[in-house]
Amino acid sequence: MRKMFPILMLVLSSQSLRAQDLAVVGATVYASPTAERVADTTILIRGGKIVSVGQHVPVPQGVDALQCANCIVFAGFWNTHVHFTEPKWVGAASQPADKLTQQLREMLTLSGFTTVVDTASIPDNTVALRRRIESGEVMGPRIYTAGAGLFPPHALPYYVKDMPPEVLAQLPQPDTPAEAAADVRKNIAAGADIVKLFTGSIVAPGHIVPMPLAIATAAAAAGHEHGQLVFAHPSDLAGTRVAMESGVDVLAHSPEALEGIDDALLHQMVAHHMAMIPTLKLFSGDSNIAAIRSVVFRFHQLGGPLLFGTDTGFLTDYDVKEEYRQLALAGLSYRGVLGMLTTAPAQRFRVADHEGRITVGMAGDLTVLSVDPATDPLAFTRVLFTIRDGRVIASAPAR
Ligand SMILES: [Zn+2]
Repeated sequence: MRKMFPILMLVLSSQSLRAQDLAVVGATVYASPTAERVADTTILIRGGKIVSVGQHVPVPQGVDALQCANCIVFAGFWNTHVHFTEPKWVGAASQPADKLTQQLREMLTLSGFTTVVDTASIPDNTVALRRRIESGEVMGPRIYTAGAGLFPPHALPYYVKDMPPEVLAQLPQPDTPAEAAADVRKNIAAGADIVKLFTGSIVAPGHIVPMPLAIATAAAAAGHEHGQLVFAHPSDLAGTRVAMESGVDVLAHSPEALEGIDDALLHQMVAHHMAMIPTLKLFSGDSNIAAIRSVVFRFHQLGGPLLFGTDTGFLTDYDVKEEYRQLALAGLSYRGVLGMLTTAPAQRFRVADHEGRITVGMAGDLTVLSVDPATDPLAFTRVLFTIRDGRVIASAPAR
C-alpha cells in the first residue's frame, strides 16, 4: 500500500523512540468485536507489539504497569474521515512539538483514535506532521492521507470557495483522464496513501455536479496501480454511480440526496465490494437524517462494510458523541460500532494481520474506556487512555 523503502527506513530509525513496553493490568478486555468480554486480563506490550494477553500474565521487571481494574479495553480505534486543513496545522514541519501534540489530543487522540485517515488536505504539510509523529517527537495517531482531493472540471464545492486563492489554485480539477492520472501520481509522489475523488461535487446547496466517469476511472486506476484505496464523496445517485462504476473502494460519506438510492443500488454497491463511512453527525441537522440513517443501516444489513469516520477537521467541533448517538439510532449494535472502529478499517486497509484486535503479534494500539458500551452507546467517548505502539499518547484529564 505504501512505498516500501521510505516507510521501512522510518520504522528502523524511530522504533526505539516511539514503540515502547507497557503492561495494562487487571482490565476488562474485548479482544475483538465478536469476542466475549474477559475480566481481570493483563495485556503485555514489548517493543510496541502485544506479546502476551491473559489472566495470569506476569509483568517483567522494568516494564511500566498501568493498573487498570476499572478499564474496558479495545484495540485502538480508527477514524477514517478527518482533515488536517485548519489554519493551526499550517507549518507543521516547524511548529513546536508540544503544540502539535496538544492539538492532536484535542482533535483526535483524547477521543481514542490511534489511526486516522485524512481524506484531503495539503499533502506536504500533512506528510510533515506525520513524519514528526513517526519520529516520536510529536505524540499522535498513525496517519494515512489522500493528499489533495480531485474535483470535477470547473465544479469546486461551494463550501471550499472561501479558501485563500493560493489554496484554491492548488485544488486539482483535472479536465481529462490523462490529467487525472497525473494528479494522482503527483499526490503519490508527495507521500499520499489513498486517492480521494469528489464524484458528486456540491457546487451550491441543492446543485450537485458529477465527476465525468472517464476522469474518475482514470484516477481510480492510477491509485489502484500503486495499491492504493480510492475514496469518494458521492453526494447523490449520479455521484454514487460514478463512484461504483469507476472502481471506488470507499464512500467517504453516505449519499445525502437520496432520490433513486434504493435496495437495488445498495445491492450493487455491496457486489462491487464498496465500504461506506456514514459521517452521520455531518448530516444530523438535515431534514432527511432519518432516511440517511436508513440507507446506512440497509447497506450494512445487505453485507456492506461500514467504517467509523466523522469528518473531524472539516467539522471544527470535535465532539464525537453525536456520531455514536446517530449510529445507535440507525440500528447499529455496540458490537457493530466496535467493528467499524477496529476490524473493518483494518481489513479495508489490508493490515488486519497486525492491527484491529487484541492478540499476540498485533500492534500495541489500545483504546481504554471507563464505561462499557454494552450498557451505553455513548460510552465510546469515555476515553481514559489512548495507547499507540505501547506508548500512552493521550490520557483523560483527572476529574
Ligand atoms: Zn471530509
